[in-house]
Amino acid sequence: MKNARSAEEIAREYRKRLGVDHLQWLDPMTILTKLRHEISGCDFATVAPGEIAPALAKWDSGRKLIRIGEDTFAAANIPRSEGRARFSIFHEAIHVLGGHEGAFNRLPGRSEIPGYAQKLRALEASTDKITAAFMAPRHLISDNWSVEDVALFLV
Ligand SMILES: [Zn+2]
Repeated sequence: MKNARSAEEIAREYRKRLGVDHLQWLDPMTILTKLRHEISGCDFATVAPGEIAPALAKWDSGRKLIRIGEDTFAAANIPRSEGRARFSIFHEAIHVLGGHEGAFNRLPGRSEIPGYAQKLRALEASTDKITAAFMAPRHLISDNWSVEDVALFLV
């Protein structure tokens, strides 16, 4: 067994790498712009939702491109309105920062062979954990906060 780093540690490293470790509410445009500077050749584009449906956002490592549905991008830029949209965009950013190879979305198809699907599911689950820690890192959360306070980071 290799000694895996925790999702919190990885998320913290990514926040520092992008220079946003001091920020509380992360703005998707800021993260995407910083990602573009940090990862050579990486870019993002908004697309018609139908192009990537049922995914809201999708990272393709071959093209080094994050495609984001226009509706998702619009929703993600309104603070505290649409948690799912922001989470989906940051989830793809974590794939990029993690150097994950392949084409990813948050709703993997069911046609993959079982062995691969299992690995993909594990990678998706760990990416989700890192994404949550990236959006709401422990060091910015006070002990006396309520669950509702913490949840506001995620929306
Ligand atoms: Zn994913």
